[in-house]
Amino acid sequence: MKNLWNVTEASTFSGPLGECVYGSRLLGAESALVLHGGGNTSVKAQESDIHGDQVDVLYVKGSGWDLATIEPQGFAPLRLEAVKRLAELPALTDTEMVNQLRLNLLDASAPNPSVEAILHASLPFTAVQHTHADAALALTNTSEGEQRVRELWGTSVVVVPYVMPGFDLAKACALEFEKQANADTVAMVLMNHGVFTFGDTTEQAYNNMIDVITEAENYLITKAGVDITNSATLATPVNATGSALDQATLRQNLSNAAGRSMLLVRTPNQRANVFAGRSDVADVACRGPATPDHVIRTKQFPLIGRNIDKFVSNYHNYFERNQDRFPGVQELDPAPRVVLDSELGLLTAGARISDCEIASDIYLHTIDVIEASEGLGGFVALPETDLFEVEYWELEQAKLAKSGQPPAMSGEVAVVTGSASGIGRACVEALISRGAAVIGIDLNTSGTPTTPSLLELTADVTDPESLATAVNMGVERFGGIDIVVAAAGIFGASSEIADIVQSDWETTLSVNLNGVTNLLQATHPFLALSPSGGRVLLVGSKNVPAPGKGAAAYSASKAAVTQLGRVAALEWAEDGIVVNTIHPDGVFDTGLWSQELVDERAANYGLTADEYKRRNLLGQEITSGDVGELVAAMCSHSFRQITGAQIPIDGGSDRVI
Ligand SMILES: [Zn+2]
Repeated sequence: MKNLWNVTEASTFSGPLGECVYGSRLLGAESALVLHGGGNTSVKAQESDIHGDQVDVLYVKGSGWDLATIEPQGFAPLRLEAVKRLAELPALTDTEMVNQLRLNLLDASAPNPSVEAILHASLPFTAVQHTHADAALALTNTSEGEQRVRELWGTSVVVVPYVMPGFDLAKACALEFEKQANADTVAMVLMNHGVFTFGDTTEQAYNNMIDVITEAENYLITKAGVDITNSATLATPVNATGSALDQATLRQNLSNAAGRSMLLVRTPNQRANVFAGRSDVADVACRGPATPDHVIRTKQFPLIGRNIDKFVSNYHNYFERNQDRFPGVQELDPAPRVVLDSELGLLTAGARISDCEIASDIYLHTIDVIEASEGLGGFVALPETDLFEVEYWELEQAKLAKSGQPPAMSGEVAVVTGSASGIGRACVEALISRGAAVIGIDLNTSGTPTTPSLLELTADVTDPESLATAVNMGVERFGGIDIVVAAAGIFGASSEIADIVQSDWETTLSVNLNGVTNLLQATHPFLALSPSGGRVLLVGSKNVPAPGKGAAAYSASKAAVTQLGRVAALEWAEDGIVVNTIHPDGVFDTGLWSQELVDERAANYGLTADEYKRRNLLGQEITSGDVGELVAAMCSHSFRQITGAQIPIDGGSDRVI
């Protein structure tokens, strides 16, 4: 493992806390050391309190902060002596520990100190770093783990048997440290959990961390024949062979088990595909996670194949067997978060894309750990009682709760055509703001989506093959389709019927009508598999109920689309799919309208541009944002009982009312 300490860079961080921030970020940047909120660090320093008295302070990582991005205010300043005294108590409940730690903060606005704060306080070193390094997990998740730790590091490390994080672990570490520490001690190895290193400075603690982990990596190359640094995450992305329809079917079953819509994201990774295809995958992958901390993200093991019912009943049984450990505890949803399928490869499930990506990162590292441990004679995880205690531990669940309730449309996937601009773009934004993941399809895309909830794909809606390819790619990314918004459209050249140019007519009908038919055909199989019922929203036009001169192709195409939607509502009701149409009018902030065109039309009616934009009963200008909000609302569950409807959004038109 590469040592990334850079003296010049480190010198831009001031004081012991600054150096600790820099050293923490270096750990956080290396996914083979810590993943997504894992690990913690601390530094001890002297500070003056409000009376000017000198106080020994322990700055320890605050709960909810990630080492990769931590700031000085991410560290909780604790009165060191008071925290050290807590370690002398015979027992302390989790709630009381959190309470006592908060009582000893020097800053009331500081985050909750890490649950490993007492452990950090007890270690007699200025700087302490703690990681869940893959190499250490590979070494300790084996039947002869402790022997191998001793073979590699001898007496230069303190070894602590597995104890759940919290007060008891702090006590166990203090005890083992007293028994085993000597002048050569550079680290403390926590079986099935991770490594602590320490020093007079963060730089020393960091150097020790890199040294001991590099030694473990080299040991794995020699003894296990596995180069863990050639991580699964670095492999060339290659798709597995399973179809998008298989994936959407699995997602439907998984969402039903979870009791809510879930994304089911495929991780295209060659090593994950090979691992999922191992003949013994059901054995090696179902022994447990690499470290118990992962269960809140991955559950205790993955679903192998696609038998969700069996997974769910196993999960119920696991809960039944262990629930007495926490009387009154409620069972969490029993759906898997990680799936290994010989055809689909590695998939991860969650209500938010970030949940899926975290589970995916964790599982890629789990593959590294399992393969290396197998090379050492066999991967051995902790018994389920230990996993249950972490999964249902209130402090772990509190970590998840910190990210808040997911928004209303989270776990749902929408396809929006014409997504790069105008009404399509506004629909994308409104759907994403409600938590949906969106597959945006357009002829040209911005190419740099600002959120992982948006997958932008280029396709021509008039080309059924190109459109179907894009739809399938979208399903492979997010797992299925719940919502379709057909917003791609053109206005075409204005001309009276007598002067219509054949090719203009055909282009307008091709995009505005055939494009929608193609979209409905490509998405119907997926909409029928939507766990919460498919929803289609077609963008018509006020020209349908109230046409104008000179726009025959546009008006005819939108009228045909409206009719198409009505037939779809009839045909697809039995699949639980609703199909509705909106008729916008005068949405001037889209590419269809230039300032010249607005001026020209306004002049036709003897109005100013502003008057022209507000020529409706309510006197309000309709923006694409208004249309996006309406579309998102009509795709929400409040509209579940409505199909075949046409809603105008035009500020009220006396020609239609
Ligand atoms: Zn830990």
